[in-house]
Amino acid sequence: RAKSMGHNMCFVYQSSMADNIDAYLTLGGGLRKAIEEEQFILHYQPKIRLPDETVVGAEALIRWIHPELGMISPDQFIPLAEESGLILPLGEWVIRRACRQLQEWRKAGYPDIKLSVNLSSRQFMQADLVDMVEKVLEETGVDSKYFELELTESMLMVDAQQSIEKLHSFRKLGLTLSIDDFGTGYSSLAYLKKFPIQTLKIDRSFIHDLGLDSDNDAIVKATIAMANSLNLKVIAEGVENRAQVDVLNKYHCQEVQGYLFSKPLNSGDFLVYLDSHRAVV
Ligand code: C2E
Ligand code: MG
Ligand code: MG
Ligand code: MG
Repeated sequence: RAKSMGHNMCFVYQSSMADNIDAYLTLGGGLRKAIEEEQFILHYQPKIRLPDETVVGAEALIRWIHPELGMISPDQFIPLAEESGLILPLGEWVIRRACRQLQEWRKAGYPDIKLSVNLSSRQFMQADLVDMVEKVLEETGVDSKYFELELTESMLMVDAQQSIEKLHSFRKLGLTLSIDDFGTGYSSLAYLKKFPIQTLKIDRSFIHDLGLDSDNDAIVKATIAMANSLNLKVIAEGVENRAQVDVLNKYHCQEVQGYLFSKPLNSGDFLVYLDSHRAVV
């Protein structure tokens, strides 16, 4: 997956298709206007607790509802937003929208659903990020223990010392911190534990082959065991079938996300999902 800005630029310049370049630049030009006009929505993918399979939270995933092109996925415009710096206002919009959504769920009778949002690297480097998050939490009245940030290994490694300090500031605000796409970077779990994190999300590339490839199974098993012994909660991403759930239960994975349970849903559909998969309290 082409994630970093570098990757994405390579993709554009290597491509000989003028169409691709056109589409890319057109999207970039439209992004500023899209932010002004709020052409974005958040979708919510349920997080399911094992082994009882109740909904305990959700991940917020942004979509751009483009007036001509329809729904555009974040992989197509987040890199553009990073390059242009527009990720800063866009990222703030995501956090505010997510916090309001948490309050709506609370009012709808679901006070203990947790919600996570993804941060991008430029956003994470932003000097006043912690202040901004604190301000939005206050403004929306959200209890920070239900709010979670998803970060990637590469984001933290740009300046490890500064990252550690930033994460501690977030912890002081009461937020939960998780490592997204774990296993795709180069850092070891032992090293990552120097950062004050609570959750590990195993990248879906490892979950894909679960039960089919014994080496891959061994990696997932060892990762979950080590994470658990370091008191980290583990979430498996991209769970698409029952066989994967069986293996994950066997390894004592705490939560799963994936199309087997639900794709990301708009706020209305998510509420319907919550109603029909109500956690037993
Ligand atoms: P991510 O944070 O790792 O999110 C998981 C992605 O996997 C989502 O794609 C989700 O729809 C997809 N997914 C979930 N279950 C399955 C499954 O069972 N099978 C498969 N094949 N895929 C599954 P999406 O929504 O297109 O988001 C892609 C990436 O864009 C995210 O990866 C995240 O890095 C980024 N992103 C999304 N929303 C935001 C945002 O608000 N801000 C920032 N900075 N990045 C975002
Ligand atoms: Mg994520
Ligand atoms: Mg992920
Ligand atoms: Mg990702």
